[in-house]
Amino acid sequence: MAETLLLRIDGKDVAASDGATFAVTNPATGGHLYDVAHATPGDVNHAVAAARTAFEDQRWRGIRPRERARVLNRAAGLLADRIDVYARLETLQIGRPLREMRAQLARLPEWLEYFGAVAQTAEGSVPDFGAGYLNVVNRVPLGVAGLITPWNHPLLITMKKLSAALAAGNSLVIKPSELGPAVPLALVDLLEEAGVPAGVVNVVTGLGATTGRALSEHQGLAKLDITGGTETGRVVAATAGRSLIPVTAELGGKAPVVIFDDVDLEQAVAGALFASFIATGQTCVQGARVLVQRSVHERFVARFIERTQALRLGDPLAVDTQVGPLVSEAQREKVAQAVARAAGQGARVLCGGRVPRGAEYRKGWFYEPTVVGDITPEHELWYEEVFGPLTLVVPFDDEADALRKANDCPFGLAASVWTADTGRALRVADGLDVGITWVNDHHRIDPSSPWGGSKDSGIGSENGLDAYRTYTRQKSVVINSSGTPFDWYATTQDLRYS
Ligand code: NDP
Repeated sequence: MAETLLLRIDGKDVAASDGATFAVTNPATGGHLYDVAHATPGDVNHAVAAARTAFEDQRWRGIRPRERARVLNRAAGLLADRIDVYARLETLQIGRPLREMRAQLARLPEWLEYFGAVAQTAEGSVPDFGAGYLNVVNRVPLGVAGLITPWNHPLLITMKKLSAALAAGNSLVIKPSELGPAVPLALVDLLEEAGVPAGVVNVVTGLGATTGRALSEHQGLAKLDITGGTETGRVVAATAGRSLIPVTAELGGKAPVVIFDDVDLEQAVAGALFASFIATGQTCVQGARVLVQRSVHERFVARFIERTQALRLGDPLAVDTQVGPLVSEAQREKVAQAVARAAGQGARVLCGGRVPRGAEYRKGWFYEPTVVGDITPEHELWYEEVFGPLTLVVPFDDEADALRKANDCPFGLAASVWTADTGRALRVADGLDVGITWVNDHHRIDPSSPWGGSKDSGIGSENGLDAYRTYTRQKSVVINSSGTPFDWYATTQDLRYS
């Protein structure tokens, strides 16, 4: 890997115009990984202009969807060959266990394949405009889309947005998280190797408050698509709204895992463990609230604690590691503070709740997987998204109580329901105010299945046909095919015109 990662603008690797860089470090060791160019507002402007030129000269949107799909399929093949390299890079910069990164990245070629297929099968429509008229409605790409992505799944989230946007024929400027820019940058080389023309995909690395802000404020965008925290989403959406730029925003979450007493307890414990601690709890659909029917609550908690304490915390590059470090010192501090506040407000730390002891943990941002009980809506932790290896266990009495507690949350991204009763699963799923509900499962994703939430979890969705459509706009052509002359001012008769 080069010592300094550069911006990618118009097919060229370029330094920031003022030469500024920032450093990316390994959260497991604190070691310096590389420096990265810090794009100025002028560089962002340059990237948007390059993307605009690529859009206007039709080098990508002008080719048939079938050919675009071929290119995306070629990129999918190249990506499949590079999974191990990219997985290792992701682990080094964000600290997520290598086993998880490999499993996640191995799925990503599917996004390119899926949206390539959607582009080939997308059709316009011919509404019934009435006798004597033919109305043809086509869908066309929007223009330059700005993608702003977080650090927790650097390539997955870039891929979700990019596949839909590119398949539809748009040009892109991507601002990856300052904590995980390496793989989104490497992806541009791969896409160009597959046949995406230079200038169609541009990457401006930098900090959120500077580079991200410059991109979100840019008047040359036709769409802004962000995944990040709710407060960032509010700021970015408000800015884009002033310029009437449409926004997709995938934001925070605090997913409930609702466990009924008719389900196999061992399976429910395994499910809750996966929901709570995958990605070291740093995922938007983390099972951050485990709601358990009172009749099995005690048994569940005992086994859940036992399994949580047995999780193997350590070097994320080691194949047997199950929980890695937090991504940064700030993120670990946020988790530690949230636990301390909850304890101070009367909640009980059932396990974890501290920095692990041992020489192997000294340099990285490790924190023990933590379970908190005796928590009520009076506690801050009931509502706030912490984003770390920390979950709550709360008892409930019946379906109505489960729904009340699950919906008592500012976020509405995802939930899971664990029960052997299909009718109950459907009733509860219907009552949950969330975008995604899994039944007897958690955190499953597919390029064809909508991903997005309600309330403070954002606006719009990724994946599926709707995501493709939001990267297009309708263009309507109304053709008078009647052959009948029309002269409004030549007569006083009632003529049809609307
Ligand atoms: P942030 O909101 O801190 O950052 C997201 C992106 O926005 C980063 O690229 C960041 O840059 C950039 N950014 C920050 N401030 C601004 C600004 N003022 N203007 C423009 N861009 C800005 O989120 P995190 O990276 O910490 O990611 C974690 C959050 O993302 C969690 O809340 C999580 O729930 C959410 N998320 C939601 C998902 C969903 O599908 N709903 C999926 C994954 C995560 P920089 O990194 O340089 O600060």
